Amino acid sequence: IKISKSYKLASRDFHPDDTIIDIKGVKIGGDNLVIMGGPCAVESPEQIDEIARLVKAAGGQVLRGGAFKPRTGPYSFQGVGVEGLKMMAEAGKKHGLLTITEVMTPEYVDVCAEYADILQVGTRNMQNFDLLRKLGTIQTPVLLKRGFSATYDEFLNAAEYILAGGNPNVMLCERGIRTFEQYTRNTLDLTAIPVLQDLSHLPVISDPSHGTGRRELVEPMSKASVAAGANGLIVEMHTDPDNSMTGDGVQSLFPDQFAALLKDLEKLAELV
Ligand code: PEP
Ligand code: MN
Repeated sequence: IKISKSYKLASRDFHPDDTIIDIKGVKIGGDNLVIMGGPCAVESPEQIDEIARLVKAAGGQVLRGGAFKPRTGPYSFQGVGVEGLKMMAEAGKKHGLLTITEVMTPEYVDVCAEYADILQVGTRNMQNFDLLRKLGTIQTPVLLKRGFSATYDEFLNAAEYILAGGNPNVMLCERGIRTFEQYTRNTLDLTAIPVLQDLSHLPVISDPSHGTGRRELVEPMSKASVAAGANGLIVEMHTDPDNSMTGDGVQSLFPDQFAALLKDLEKLAELV
């Protein structure tokens, strides 16, 4: 069936070949599988340094960590801010990892881009059009998370804002959507992976951590995502999840689980 599309630059009709984003030699898109791992939030220099070491040792390529956290309630920990960007940049450099961090407002795009290799737009900001427009004015790669109630068409139109501004380096991230199910935090929409790859040439990354909200589901959903053709994963891992500063410890892997998962994924990736 032919569906009419309101986006253009994000569409595979416009750009038949897979987009491959090359960041300092790490290729994202096409046949490559990129693994991003790290805590929900940057907490201290020691915390991010130790987790960076473990991500690298396990075979990951990108260190994740939020310095600015979009919290549901205003009294929750909001992130350590610019200091966190510096801590993460240092840990990334020391351990030879790229870094990804969330940016929430247009005003902070430049400072986040100064310290991080990839900028993340969170689910709550997928349709923050001023933020998307600002991200279109730079060349730093952007990982755009799907809004938790966004359709594929709305998601691709959000990506279109960044592309239309002149930044071609966009990856799409499926991180779960809101459904009637309450057992999981969100419902990871695995179908989104092949559908988005069919509709678009942009790399598709899966986030099984926010997609499930439960540690024990991260491994099977990571594997399912890779089997479905994901170009990469973004996974929360923490050395002390029970005492993490956001509530996301419950979905964070322990370092040994993270390492075991990456070993299995290596084998799985050869099959797909
Ligand atoms: C995160 O990655 O920690 C995060 C807040 O993700 P999301 O925007 O998908 O909830
Ligand atoms: Mn999180």
